[in-house]
Formats: sequence, structure tokens, C-alpha cells
Amino acid sequence: MRMEKELLCDPPSAVRPARVAPPVSRPEASQRRSVPRSAVGPPRSYFGNRFVYAVISQRAHGLSIGVNLNPDKFCNFDCAYCEVDRRSASADAQIDLDVLALELEEMLGRAFYGRMRELPGYETVPEDLLGLKEVALSGDGEPTLCPMFAEVVETVLHVRAKCFFPFFKVVVITNSTGLHLPPVQQGLKLLTTKDEVWAKLDVGTQAWLEQINRPKSSPLNCPSVTLDHVIENILALAKQRPVVIQSLFPLINGKGPAPAEITAYAERLNALKEAGARISLVQVYSAHRPPALPNCGHLPLRELSQIARRVREVSGLRTEVF
Ligand code: SF4
Repeated sequence: MRMEKELLCDPPSAVRPARVAPPVSRPEASQRRSVPRSAVGPPRSYFGNRFVYAVISQRAHGLSIGVNLNPDKFCNFDCAYCEVDRRSASADAQIDLDVLALELEEMLGRAFYGRMRELPGYETVPEDLLGLKEVALSGDGEPTLCPMFAEVVETVLHVRAKCFFPFFKVVVITNSTGLHLPPVQQGLKLLTTKDEVWAKLDVGTQAWLEQINRPKSSPLNCPSVTLDHVIENILALAKQRPVVIQSLFPLINGKGPAPAEITAYAERLNALKEAGARISLVQVYSAHRPPALPNCGHLPLRELSQIARRVREVSGLRTEVF
């Protein structure tokens, strides 16, 4: 079997509950998250976990196991397209690293040993989408503002280092605003060259940032969130390691970004490249799931393709549209 050939060391069997599916400390039923009807399309699914979820991700091109670094739903943006429902209370105020590690091992065991289909909504997911593409450090808020960011990275990498499973890539998904924070830099230093950082850049002007990302009052020691701050953070990181840029373009009140805004955005990317940023890919996409704001919608694929073409014309960077 392909999985067996890929094992690195100490291979567990597909049914090795002592290590692959350890007895996770479960939340009370009232604290558990609801189970989805389908794995493709609906929001990510926790299957009773507190911190670890699974999703079939367009951006990852398949199965992504996610770690929610923001159980408190804290974010310094209030994006017009955000899918997080902040009207409901959070079940957890902070992360329990032991529970996180156990939940991650259990979900990895399912992914690597063909047991995802036991989960509700995954019964009919095509086989080629069930191969694990990444473990994403993401969340119901901004992960770089998690006070335990470095500890979470350490915990996930420790699970990987135990070699119970084949190697998996770790992806940090961030809105780029907390990349300068010392604990975040400490955590990012632990990543290997096979891991990735996906950094958000949705705009080319401060005015569009205010409309789309809608920054809130500054948290921690983060300066007020400006586009210049986002650009500075991306540049500083992308000089150290390649970065994937994620850019979401929504329809707002039926309108997409103006041509001048798209050009400004492409020129920002080009300026980053000219300044020495290593940008391996620009992902151009739109809101796919129902966002919090009713006036926010999906930008047609034709317009997304035009944006990607503009990026290529101005910067020569590799782009992907979905
Ligand atoms: S940065 Fe992410 S979590 Fe924060 S508001 Fe925007 S979409 Fe939501």
C-alpha cells in the first residue's frame, strides 16, 4: 500500500489506538461543535474536537488538517468576507497544548490510514481529495496574535518529529499583521524549508484596506494596522524565506475592485519583489462560503483571471486563480 511505503519510521498499524487514536480528553457534549452535512463546501469540521479540524480546501487542493490558534475568535481585522461567526460565544478561551497534540495525532491517523471516510460528510469524498496536503496553523482569528503561537508551532512540530506518520507540510496562514512579533518570529524560525507561510495581501491602497479588511483597534504591541505595516511585515519575512501571497477579492454591493485598485495591488507586489521579497506564488480567489456581511459576494472567475493577468503583467509573479 502506498501509505506503508511512505512511512518514515516506527510505523503504526491502521488500527493502533494507543498511539494513533489516543484517548483524547473530550469536551462536554454541550461544548462540542456541530457536525457538518458535507465535507466539500461547508465550513471546516471539528468532529467533536476543540482545536483540530479537517476541511477539503481549494487552496490546498485537497485535505487540510487545521489547528485553530484562536479559539477565542480574536482578530485585528474584520474582513467583509470573513466566515467566522463572532456572535456566538467561544467554547475555549485558550489552547490546551496536550489536547491539541492528541487531537492532531488522532486526525493524522485518520488521514494517513484511510479512516477519513468514517467521518460524517466524508463518506463520498473522492479518493484523490483525501490525501493530506498540509497541516494548517490557522484559526477563527489571526494566528500570529495567539499568545501561544510559538508553543503551538513547537507542539505541532513535535508531533511531526515523533515519526508516527509520514512527513507532513506545515502551513501558517496569516493576515500578515503579527509577523513582526517576537514570539511569532521565534515560532517561524522552527519551520523547515518544506513548510510554508501564506500571507494575506488583499489590497493595493489603504482606502481599499479600510473597506475590505476593516482593521480594528490595535492589539498587543502591534502598531495600528496600515497597509504599509502589512507590506513591511511581508517584506521582512519574504527576505528570509519564500512566501505565498493570498489575495481575496470579493464583490461589495455588487462591485469588484476598480481597475486603479487592481493596478495598485499589482504594483505593491512588484515593489515587494523589487525590494527582495521571495514570492513563490500569488493565489487570487474570492469569497466561496457565505460571509458574515450580506453585501459581500463572489467575484466572477473572469474578473479574478483579469486580476491574475494584471499581476503577471506588472510583476511577472506566478499566479493561481480559483
Ligand atoms: S483576517 Fe481572517 S479571521 Fe480575521 S477577519 Fe479577516 S478573514 Fe476573518
